[in-house]
Amino acid sequence: MIEVDWARLKAHELRKLANEDAIVILPIASIEQHGPHLPVMTDTRLGQEVAHRAARKAYAKRPVVVAPTVWSGLSEHHMPFGGTLTLSHDTFRRVLRDLIEAITRQGFKDILISNAHGGNIIAMQQILDELSPTSKATLVATTYVMEAGEDLSQHLEDQLGVMHAGEAETSMMLVCEPDLVDLSNVDKIANPEGGKDFLSAGRNSYRWRPFAHMTENGLAGNPARSNAEKGENMLEAGAEALAKLMVDPETWAAPKDLRLAETGGVPFR
Ligand SMILES: [Zn+2]
Repeated sequence: MIEVDWARLKAHELRKLANEDAIVILPIASIEQHGPHLPVMTDTRLGQEVAHRAARKAYAKRPVVVAPTVWSGLSEHHMPFGGTLTLSHDTFRRVLRDLIEAITRQGFKDILISNAHGGNIIAMQQILDELSPTSKATLVATTYVMEAGEDLSQHLEDQLGVMHAGEAETSMMLVCEPDLVDLSNVDKIANPEGGKDFLSAGRNSYRWRPFAHMTENGLAGNPARSNAEKGENMLEAGAEALAKLMVDPETWAAPKDLRLAETGGVPFR
């Protein structure tokens, strides 16, 4: 099998990959409570799995290397249930900025931030807005469950989307870490209504809320409907979506400059 794991490669092999214009995936995730039945590593483990599968799928068209998953994300909303390690926004921003800089200085030109945790989405986009205008690399960010969309959610019977520690994440963890999934009480822990009024009120307003506002046991969804076959299909759908994104030249294309010749103005990239 092709080695795509940055941490398992030697420095000279990574220098060669930079010379070959490999894409770098930087997975970002979290360590946070995932109900009574899943380990706190769930987002980190799934994000890593999907990134590695995606890298192997895309490799024939273009080499890809996967940096170690940034396990430390933004999970303040999960703190009330314990087991959660969160960063402040400022630290998260600095960690991503420094890692992107370290990757870029080695000559890698295309970096995909592959996110596996809902709480990171807004900050991740903000960081790209801040860094992209001056970065030597092209920075693209996505969240694998959204990138896969219907291709992933079509495998769900009980939920429209992934939710938290429900049918989707439990199914995928049954593939990745079956010994760490505790289904002994699974019929009693379902919370299909969880998450309905998590972050929004009214039609277009926003308010921060802790996860304890919408679930008594830390999960949203129904893990009782989980199985490994669904999990495998969803992991593959997530990986396919990331691979498709990476091999599409449009993903990495320079921005157009539609200004008229006499317009002049400020250079951009
Ligand atoms: Zn999760």
